[in-house]
Amino acid sequence: MKLPVYHFEGHIEVEKGQGFYRGYLHFPFNVPEGVGAIHLSLRYSPVRVGELDNLITPGLYDPAGFRGEAHRHPANEDLAVGVDRASPGFVAGEIGAGVWVAQLTVHTVVEDATPCHYTLDISLEAGRPGAGVATYYPPAPARLNDRPGWYGGELHSHTFHSDGALPPAELVAQARQQGLDFLAITDHNTNAALGEIDPASLGPMLLIPGMELTTLYGHALVLGTRQWIDWRTGYQGRTIDQAASEAHAAGALFIMAHPQAVGSPICTGCHWEFSHFDLDLADAFEVWNGPWPDPYDQNIKGLHAWRELQATGRRLPATAGTDFHSLGNWNSASPRVWVYARELSVAAVLDGIRQGRVILSAGPKLAFQVLPDGAGTPGEVGDIVVAPSQRATLSVSWDRVPQGNSLHLRNAEGLLLSTSLPASGSLQQPIQIHRQERVWVELYGENGFLIAMTNPIFIQPG
Ligand SMILES: [Zn+2]
Ligand SMILES: [Zn+2]
Repeated sequence: MKLPVYHFEGHIEVEKGQGFYRGYLHFPFNVPEGVGAIHLSLRYSPVRVGELDNLITPGLYDPAGFRGEAHRHPANEDLAVGVDRASPGFVAGEIGAGVWVAQLTVHTVVEDATPCHYTLDISLEAGRPGAGVATYYPPAPARLNDRPGWYGGELHSHTFHSDGALPPAELVAQARQQGLDFLAITDHNTNAALGEIDPASLGPMLLIPGMELTTLYGHALVLGTRQWIDWRTGYQGRTIDQAASEAHAAGALFIMAHPQAVGSPICTGCHWEFSHFDLDLADAFEVWNGPWPDPYDQNIKGLHAWRELQATGRRLPATAGTDFHSLGNWNSASPRVWVYARELSVAAVLDGIRQGRVILSAGPKLAFQVLPDGAGTPGEVGDIVVAPSQRATLSVSWDRVPQGNSLHLRNAEGLLLSTSLPASGSLQQPIQIHRQERVWVELYGENGFLIAMTNPIFIQPG
């Protein structure tokens, strides 16, 4: 049997004065019976225009849906997906007959005198039908620890299934060396890493399955599902609200990732540009992404944006993520997320995040409580405290704080108190409660960079 080969090519021209182009190109092709593997070969040039990269990434969709995305930078990619093997980012399995679609996502083509030229070659390899040979691993226990408490981990990491450097098993080994209680794997637009991880390799560490929806207009972390969520906003009228709702329907969280990052064309799609997004669909806001400080001040801008949202009365918890891509990313300037959970399970950690029981820290240990004067129950980060006497005491304690640090107590209106700190200690600050309040703590190093923060405690006057 002679199998067809397909060749597509074309130019991407940027409208004059537009600066850059972003969008999708789709190439349907027919797959007959008796195919065991599909090979894809993408070439484009130029790869670089001045200081900027052109970025086009290939994806593949079978008649039933997702089969892979290769979200990484090489402009020359030779990929294959087959019955029992697949390139990183792709999912092995049956190569069903019918119309498949190769997709080129043009994240950025920068305006240039010569238009960007691409070729896409697709060839089919004969093979046996079948459902593949994905390894069967016994599932991990749903609950790794039944103790309620603060658990520390990573909510944002990448493997070589997108643009990370490490294979999933190596990422898991490194995370265990860091002593993480939980690790979320959030590859760009693919969940292919998840099927590769042997739960036995996780030991006492909880795996939170996820994805980073890497759209052309903003990134979002989906945490807590193995389901692939269609990230392709703008394709067939799909909106970011639909993607968020689908994540929720799958039981997952939807977190706006580094919303104030520098955007296209420098970091394509990294800046949140969905002006019509329904913020009620966001479960959290990644205030702190990677090291603090960062070259584009994305984190300080993110913190300011989050504070503004607090001032509008919105209850949108702040989270952090190292955005781990390679060894060395877990360092003293990168944040760890501490979540108060009723047990160490995916459902409990997600619940803790939803409720804002979250502290972010690059090292210092921080605890925060509100104690109402007289009657009333004390509350911790994320709680609502009722203070019938309209008076309460804010109680902060800290440890492992470098010399020269300062502590800021803030509410939605601004700074309540700023004080410099010894390496460890505690502070009690009385406050009057006249209306609904929210109060949180930010810790700064001597150079003025954030090194830890809590989420708010909410206080009601009774
Ligand atoms: Zn991102
Ligand atoms: Zn990321």
